[in-house]
Amino acid sequence: MKKIKIVLLIILMTIPSIFNFFPEHVEAKSIRDLRRELQEIENRKNENNSNINKTESQINAIENKISENYNTINRLSNEIIETDKEIEELNKEIENKDKSTKDLMASLQTTNGNSFYIEYLFGADSITDFIYRYSITEQITSYNEKLVVEMNELIKKNEEKKVTLANRQKELKEMQSTLQSSLTELSGVRKNLYELSTDIEDEIRNAKQIIQMYLDAGCTEDEDIKTCANKMLPPDTKFWRPFGPGYITSGYGWRSAIYSGGRLIASAQMHEGIDISNGYGSSQEIYSVANGKVVATWYDQWGGNQVTIHHNINGTTYSSNYAHMSRITAKKGDIVTKDTVIGYMGSTGSATGPHLHLAICTGLRFTDYTGYNAYVARTMDPRNLINFPSSGSWVDRVTYYR
Ligand SMILES: [Zn+2]
Repeated sequence: MKKIKIVLLIILMTIPSIFNFFPEHVEAKSIRDLRRELQEIENRKNENNSNINKTESQINAIENKISENYNTINRLSNEIIETDKEIEELNKEIENKDKSTKDLMASLQTTNGNSFYIEYLFGADSITDFIYRYSITEQITSYNEKLVVEMNELIKKNEEKKVTLANRQKELKEMQSTLQSSLTELSGVRKNLYELSTDIEDEIRNAKQIIQMYLDAGCTEDEDIKTCANKMLPPDTKFWRPFGPGYITSGYGWRSAIYSGGRLIASAQMHEGIDISNGYGSSQEIYSVANGKVVATWYDQWGGNQVTIHHNINGTTYSSNYAHMSRITAKKGDIVTKDTVIGYMGSTGSATGPHLHLAICTGLRFTDYTGYNAYVARTMDPRNLINFPSSGSWVDRVTYYR
């Protein structure tokens, strides 16, 4: 008997955690929570600013390196030109020496038909003088030959130097192109960081506005804001993506009729929203696209599980509509922020795979007007209101996309 009681107790203790596992209710939030969230955004801003500074100084360093390399490459070009000149001069010199040696030999060997060289040698008045005269002429020719050898060596050295210089220049040019691509990449990073910075600024402005709104409504620091401001339509500054990463699978507007063999298969249809998806299926949380108030949740055979939320964007009212959800977690009357999960992606109703059908219309749907046609007539392309890429995918809900 005691054992059964213990088992029962364990089961009872487990039940709340089972319920917690399924987030049917968005947790109660207070102004204090909102302030903490604001602080987190401010921290992200600081982090982003330090990333910007880091990137700026990396860019600076690379730009300096590029200009330093550019100067070195120019200097090497000049050195190569100088070396060429030197080689040219050495060649001229060699030619001159060759010529002067030949001239000397020629003039020593033949003068007036007789050999001047012989005359010169035999004009010696002693054997010492003879040896001296002999060695002088030998020295002059061998000196010239030695000079030519030395100059040829110098030319060789210069040619080698030229190769070294050219190699160094080639290396530097390759380094330049590597640096240039790093620079291009970093410039991209910098652009993204600045975009992120703008998004964060928006988030901060938005968060502050929300806190002020609840304060104005008389909410205390620790009160559940949903209950204390139940009748309000919380303002927002702009629309945000309902989830990320993601991509658009079908755009807004008229879909043309489909014929097969002259037979009409499907008539032209107005697609009053956009379809967006990713690989996460029904585990993908769907967020409200802006602060607002949930005014309807329902199921029908076309849109499956659906939610409609009213918004006040800079004083203009809009309604956002979400369809094909696997589950709805928002309740009619809920005050939501752009960070509230309202349900999960799915393929309920008429859908071939998990995706979110997102539509946005002007005015307060179900309050200002009813009827499907009146609603469709007020819809617009969500891409005109939300920062979606014109093609490709985005990485998260609020920041840049690639
Ligand atoms: Zn759709």
